[in-house]
Amino acid sequence: MDLTTDVLIVGAGGGGAILGIALSRKGISNLVLEQAGGPPQGLRGEILQPNGQALLHQLGLLDALPAGASKPVRLFHFRKSGGTRLCTIDYEMLPAPFNRALVMWPNVVHHTILECLQQENPTGLRFQASFKSLLYEGDRIIGVQAEIDGVSLRIGAQVVVGADGPFSRVREALRVPASLHRYKDSYLVAALDSSEELQEAQYFVGQQTILGLFPAPGNKVYALYMVSSDSLEHLKASGVAALREQWKVIAPDFESLFNSFVDWNQTAYMGTGRVRAKTWVMDRAVIMGDAAHGMNPHASQGRMQAMEDAVALANVLEHCHRSQDWSCGALKPFETARRAQVTMLQRLADEEVFFWNTGNPLLAMLRDRVFRTMDANRRLQYQVLSATAGLRATAPFGWLDRFQAAGFLPDPRAGVVPVHPQPS
Ligand SMILES: Cc1cc2nc3c(=O)[nH]c(=O)nc-3n(C[C@H](O)[C@H](O)[C@H](O)COP(=O)(O)OP(=O)(O)OC[C@H]3O[C@@H](n4cnc5c(N)ncnc54)[C@H](O)[C@@H]3O)c2cc1C
Repeated sequence: MDLTTDVLIVGAGGGGAILGIALSRKGISNLVLEQAGGPPQGLRGEILQPNGQALLHQLGLLDALPAGASKPVRLFHFRKSGGTRLCTIDYEMLPAPFNRALVMWPNVVHHTILECLQQENPTGLRFQASFKSLLYEGDRIIGVQAEIDGVSLRIGAQVVVGADGPFSRVREALRVPASLHRYKDSYLVAALDSSEELQEAQYFVGQQTILGLFPAPGNKVYALYMVSSDSLEHLKASGVAALREQWKVIAPDFESLFNSFVDWNQTAYMGTGRVRAKTWVMDRAVIMGDAAHGMNPHASQGRMQAMEDAVALANVLEHCHRSQDWSCGALKPFETARRAQVTMLQRLADEEVFFWNTGNPLLAMLRDRVFRTMDANRRLQYQVLSATAGLRATAPFGWLDRFQAAGFLPDPRAGVVPVHPQPS
């Protein structure tokens, strides 16, 4: 072998980089291979949900984010296309201190994580390092064949972790059966300039219309507009003025904000898919994050769930390291601990997009009715919000809740929400 380590991690994305940090802090040797030449750049809207904030706080990384790089947002208003308010969700009903969403500057969270990894394990992260194939001794995985800076290397490891995103080559090499669904519709993200500092987020829903407006630091606002990948070229060909006009019809109160949209360079398209892998663990191998369970970006939970995976997996790997047992059975508690929440979030995000983006007038009517019920029902609000915030693993609505949300049954517990003690 040219190199050896205990845990070989493929991919320094949202999950792999956190895993590298967590393992280094436990004194377990690890190496993270990242095919990119350096940290990611470019526009992407990013929201840190409460579970992600809590996790970064526990790792000491929330306070390490650059000053002024995040904007706390408490109120999310849901409106009909045209402006009529349907429902307002208030993050303040969640347990303090992470009872807000944080809208971030693009990439700052990831840059902070990568800097921490490089500081705490200076030789543990290699850029321009690509996974090529698995190495076997008989049918036992003993490491990977990789290419680092153009040089082919054999790297020995006790366990190989595929944290290499939705199109994972590690998953493919392990022959893990997986379904990969590419969404037809995804978000066009645009960075807009506001003349005043906005504090509250807005979501406009219509018939095949979703437009989100999220206040970001420095009087910036991210617009997230749902478009199908096959209509993107047509949209661009129509020009920025035509898109500005579409937005003004959907959200007339924000006309001056939309006037700041003048160039396609202010935009990025966020095409993603959903991954459902049959198993996440095998003898001496694991897949995690988007490689195991990529989800609709609508959930705003992809990075959070990859980070949650990393922390859970690091704990399981600590046991494996102690017992020197890297078998499927020893790794299984990772999958057992994590599968329920990601499966629930995958379903929740798909269901939300189905109703929010519907072109069917009857379904749109039902959706608006649910929003209006929720506006007056803090219990249902809490259940949806706590799921979106990553604070529960079970589905927010049972069948009874669904009938109550649609207004077909009364809800005697409409005002009942958990009371959280304030931190001292
Ligand atoms: C534009 C955009 C915006 C998003 N916004 C949000 C958001 O607001 N909130 C949120 O929670 N989630 C968001 N997501 C989703 C989130 O980014 C992912 O769910 C999360 O990054 C998953 O982490 P991961 O580590 O599993 O995979 P990734 O972050 O995709 O990381 C995989 C890494 O593996 C590397 N890699 C791939 N193949 C190889 C190889 N053969 N060898 C070496 N390295 C390899 C890749 O270069 C990449 O760096 C967004 C996604 C996109 C595309």
